Amino acid sequence: MSNFLSLEKINYIRNKFKEYYQLYPAKNIIEVSKREFGIGDFGKKISRRHLFFSTVEDFNSYLQTSTPFFVSYSVGYYTYPDRRPMEKKEWYGADIVYEFDSDDFDLPCHHRHNVWLCKNKECNDWGYGNPSFCEKCKSQVQIIEWTCDECLDKAKEQTIKLILFLEKEFKLDPSTFIISFSGSKGYHVRITDRSILNLSKSSRLQLMNYILGINLNLEQLGFVNLKKVYHIPDPKTAMGWSKKILDFIINTIENSSSQELSKLLDITSRKAKTLKENKEVIIKKMYHNNIFSNDFKLSDKFWLNFINKAIDSKSLKIDPQSSSDIYKIMRVPDTIHGGTGFLSTTIKDIDALKKFDAFSDPVIFDSENKIKIKIIKPTPKFRIFKEYYGPYTFNDIVEVKEGIAIFLVLKGVADFER
Ligand SMILES: [Zn+2]
Ligand SMILES: [Zn+2]
Repeated sequence: MSNFLSLEKINYIRNKFKEYYQLYPAKNIIEVSKREFGIGDFGKKISRRHLFFSTVEDFNSYLQTSTPFFVSYSVGYYTYPDRRPMEKKEWYGADIVYEFDSDDFDLPCHHRHNVWLCKNKECNDWGYGNPSFCEKCKSQVQIIEWTCDECLDKAKEQTIKLILFLEKEFKLDPSTFIISFSGSKGYHVRITDRSILNLSKSSRLQLMNYILGINLNLEQLGFVNLKKVYHIPDPKTAMGWSKKILDFIINTIENSSSQELSKLLDITSRKAKTLKENKEVIIKKMYHNNIFSNDFKLSDKFWLNFINKAIDSKSLKIDPQSSSDIYKIMRVPDTIHGGTGFLSTTIKDIDALKKFDAFSDPVIFDSENKIKIKIIKPTPKFRIFKEYYGPYTFNDIVEVKEGIAIFLVLKGVADFER
């Protein structure tokens, strides 16, 4: 068994991509002539870099004639994008990009839909989950990652949080944000606001640390421990992280049940009950005396723990190194992801993002034509539009709509049948 695709089959898919690009050229590329482009082929995300296009039209005609399987462009702006090595390109600025992938979060759904396959040919065992080795023979395993509504919603929730953060705290202009679906596992946000283009790598890291809530100085934020009593900023006027922390604490005390409080703060249910029963007094002290109450045996340690829980909950899970990389290249929005056949859809704004359905909106091959495929690797149950498919196992022969066939072949789990 192999997932070798004959040239004929690759060209069949390439022609589908081509037809799409002829109807729908890419539009949202700012400063196309200042970017470095990279392309990839079937099964290989990047096979060439240092490409350059002087206009969006040139780029689109390349997509329509050469039609690569993957297309990426730089976050950096260069005077000479096609020169190499990198130093000769003359970097003069870069967007800031954030990536939220569903596999960055450790979620129970991964154990339902990720597939592992034993690499030992004599064993060939497989199952669902992310084990580090085969459960039967302890050999190494290959993991095939899948997504579902649960993990993509998590990625979406983080993306929304970030956009609000950038808008409210950094006062960046949301019309300069390019939000897109990655075409596979998550979402990308690209900030093209002029004010950030020249930031150095270390300033970008600092910005990231602030978003991540790393190394926050509590005293500078107004939380001062004086003789075991926490003096706090006024909740009515607090801003930035001070406000986030206070909002979280007030909200949690008001709206969580005592069971939830006990679990979140790791306290006895009796203590949680006391907190709940006296919430008015406690919150009043925050507003009127600007302190965390030390009545009811609520110690400064208790409050410090509460503050840390607030920071943990309000911070975002982003890889700081990846977001401060000023030379990287990333998928071009409005181009097709060659590992799924889905579009890396540009998403207009936060409201459109909230409504975005990653298993419908980016699906571009929706003809009713049916195609026979042979399953070469087990797949979990998955959804496209409103229909569910699978689970499938080795050697299943199934007849599915063209778009589903292309998706499974590109994902490397099926082959076209003749
Ligand atoms: Zn095995
Ligand atoms: Zn999932």
